[in-house]
Formats: sequence, C-alpha cells, structure tokens
Amino acid sequence: MDNKTIAELSAGLQAGDFSSVELTRYYLDRIKQVDSDINSYITVTEEQALQQANNADQRIQSGEKGRLLGIPIAHKDIFCTDGVRTSCGSKMLDNFISPYDATVVEKLKDAGVVMLGKTNMDEFAMGSSNETSWYGPVNNPWDKERVPGGSSGGSAAAVAASLCVAATGTDTGGSIRQPAALCSLTGLKPTYGRVSRWGMIAYASSLDQGGSLTRNAEDAAILLQAMAGFDQRDSTSAEQPVPNYLETLNDNDLKGLRIGLPKEYFGESLNTEIATAIEQAIEVYTRQGAELVEISLPNTELAVSTYYVLSPAEASANLSRFDGVRYGYRCENPVDLEDLYKRSRGEGFGAEVKRRIMIGAYVLSAGYYDAYYLRAQRIRQLIADDFNQAFEQVDVIAGPVTQTTAFKLGEKTDDPVQMYLNDSYTIPVNLAGLPAICHPVGFDSIGLPIGIHLIGNYWREDRLLNMTHRYQQQTDWHRQTPG
Ligand code: GLN
Repeated sequence: MDNKTIAELSAGLQAGDFSSVELTRYYLDRIKQVDSDINSYITVTEEQALQQANNADQRIQSGEKGRLLGIPIAHKDIFCTDGVRTSCGSKMLDNFISPYDATVVEKLKDAGVVMLGKTNMDEFAMGSSNETSWYGPVNNPWDKERVPGGSSGGSAAAVAASLCVAATGTDTGGSIRQPAALCSLTGLKPTYGRVSRWGMIAYASSLDQGGSLTRNAEDAAILLQAMAGFDQRDSTSAEQPVPNYLETLNDNDLKGLRIGLPKEYFGESLNTEIATAIEQAIEVYTRQGAELVEISLPNTELAVSTYYVLSPAEASANLSRFDGVRYGYRCENPVDLEDLYKRSRGEGFGAEVKRRIMIGAYVLSAGYYDAYYLRAQRIRQLIADDFNQAFEQVDVIAGPVTQTTAFKLGEKTDDPVQMYLNDSYTIPVNLAGLPAICHPVGFDSIGLPIGIHLIGNYWREDRLLNMTHRYQQQTDWHRQTPG
C-alpha cells in the first residue's frame, strides 16, 4: 500500500482487491509504528475511521463508484471536525471539540473519504517550519533532523511517510507549497474563493485558502473536484463554475504554452542546486512545446514586508475571539474579567502568535494605520497589478518555491525575520489571490527534495494540474520516497 496514490487505491477498492477497512487498518498501524518519530498527527481518530471505512465498504459493495470512496486521508487540524478535537496547533484550543464540520470536511465526507485524524501544524498556521506548534515540531521524513516546512507540515510529513494517502492543508502565505517542496509532494493552493473557508479557523481571512498535499497532480485533481465550489456560508466564496479537472488533466499538449520566468525570482539569494533543478524541469516543459518568456514582477521585493503587516493585522482581529470566555482555554481562578482575558490569552497563546497579535494591533492603531496598514494595502494592489500585466504575456509563471531545501530544526527559530524571508516566493501569490502548485523536480546533493512553483491566472487550476500531470508522466521524481 505504501506510496500508492488515491487513483491506484481507488481502483483496488473498486476491484475488491482489498477493503477500505483493511486499508484503514494498514494506515492506523503504520501511524502507531512510525509517527512517534515524525509527530505528524495531533489526533488519530481510530474508531471513527474504522466506522467510516465500514460504511464506505458497504457503499462500494452496493455498486457505488467514486474515486474518494473508502480512501484514508488526514485533515490539517485547522479544519473543524464534528465531535473531534480541533486544536489549530494551539494550547488555546487543546480542549476544543468542534460542534460542526468545515465545508471542506463535509464535502469530502460526502464523497466517502475516511478521516484517519488531524495533522500537526504551526500554531494558528503562523510559521514556515512547523516549529511553532504547541504539540511540538514535525520532523521531515526525508531527514528527521530537518523541518518539513510549515504551516501544513504535519499534512506533508504524513503523506510523505505514507501515514495517509493524501491530506488537506491551508495556504495563507505558502503553507501548502512550502511543505510540499520540502517533503517532495504535489501541493495545490487554489484561487482565493475557490474552496470554502467556512469552518477553517481564520488566520488572515483575505489570504487563507484551503487546498491539498498529494503524491501527484491526478490526486490533487480528484481532491479539488470534491473540495471546490460556491458555499453561501463563506461570503468570499466565488460563484465560479468548477470544471472537470480529471478530464482536463490530459487535455492539452503544452505546444504554444507561454511560461513566464520572472527575473526577480532567479536572483542571487536562490540556492544554485535549486536553480539547476528548476532549469532542468523547465526543459521538460519546453520539450513538450512550451515557450519561455522573460518577464518582470517589479514589486516582488515588497511582498514579504507587505504580508507581514497585513496578515498580523487580520490575525489580531480574528484571534480576538479567543478570550477565555466562550470556548477554548481558560486560566485558573481569575480574580476578575480583565484578569481572565489577560491570563487566558497570555497562557493559551504561544510566542509567535503573541508577536503577530502585537504587530497587528500596532499597525491598525489610530496613529500608525496610514503609515503601515493603508500603505501595505496599496502595495498589495501593485503586486496584484504586476501579475495581471504578466498574464497578458504568459499563461503560467514558473519559479522556485523556497530559497533553500529543508533546514535543520531550530536553525531559524531565534530569528523571526530570517524565517519570514523564507516565504518570499510564495507570499506574492496569496497577496494577489492567484492559484499555484508546487511539484517535485529533484533532490539536492545531500538528498533533500526540491520543488518547482507554477503560478496560474485566476481560476486556472486546470492548467496547473494539466502541466504538472504532463511533467509527471515524463519523470519519476514524484515517485521517490524517503528511505
Ligand atoms: N509562513 C507564513 C506565515 O507564517 C505563511 C503561513 C501560512 O501560509 N499559513 O504567515
């Protein structure tokens, strides 16, 4: 079962080669054996998983088809799951049992998936290395002394270590693509508004988007098909038709496809081994007929500072709901209401979350609003305009996901600014609300995974999936697994 894709396992289930209960047991056993070394799960929902698997088996026996029917996956612990702890990686929500399912969870449940559990993540999705989780860091299955990337690090590590077939993730500034790159997976961040945010614990609402971590593009297409679509419970959900992603996977050859290479993405700070792997990957595209166009995204260097004004601003507002009164952590023996607020928040949140709340409150305060928040909003528009102009000349933009391959645990934890700079290639995409994918393109000289970043125009997930699928048919980087 190891390293099998959704498509392969689904064929096995439909043919009766094994049952969903057997498949689920297999993963649950593996989690017991292996996950103490990786820490990818916060909660394992064994009983519920076996029940869901049993239901799926019955549906399969009664002739129901469906590619997700009986497939064991995991959800990032940011998605609310009915009756199951939803911690968001925080002590604040360690005792929170969600009374409802997020739309994404509900849709996948309807499609018949089996939920194995909830995966580890940076606290409230704030981080690039999965080291801010209250439940401890996640170890990268490719080298357990290194980070898996964040904030969907648990989801990525779980898929890479075959502790589930695929997993959900969320991406506010790179949290699907970064861990995908560092763990050798395919990570898809859809267009803002494509996938409902309802029931997804909010970090920075104008940037957050749910997506997937999978072994290949075909699995990403299968998951997106089930996850995407308008949801009236999310006011920013888009009323856009959802194409048939599996049909378009093989559709076009790449003849005439214009790939933009932004000169700002290939500067000196990029590791040379990553640059080489990306060049080689691009050759796989051009051999199939794609053309290269040099482009410029002139405001790229402003993206990190813009994001680290806007996302803390939104976070400071979103996280005000955790006050020790309604749900979540409450301090012991408060003397009065103010003490209750202060100590519940002081004891319930970790250092990175507090840093963001303070920055956010500062940039939104009356005296500084114009200088920071308003200015950052204006720059955000310039960054989106850069992309809009680029997409007049090209169909897709290619570049790196990360500046380096997986770094050692603890290497950057004392220097938040260094950590923030990790996100320089992924953040502009969220600021503009565009879709993007990361897929594996090789390894560095010490065997650590490298990913490429493909950015599409609005709503063109189909094109990103199609390109990735075509690449994956020519290469087998995505089939490599950690020893
Ligand atoms: N590293 C970025 C941050 O800490 C992005 C995180 C994310 O995408 N959730 O904000």
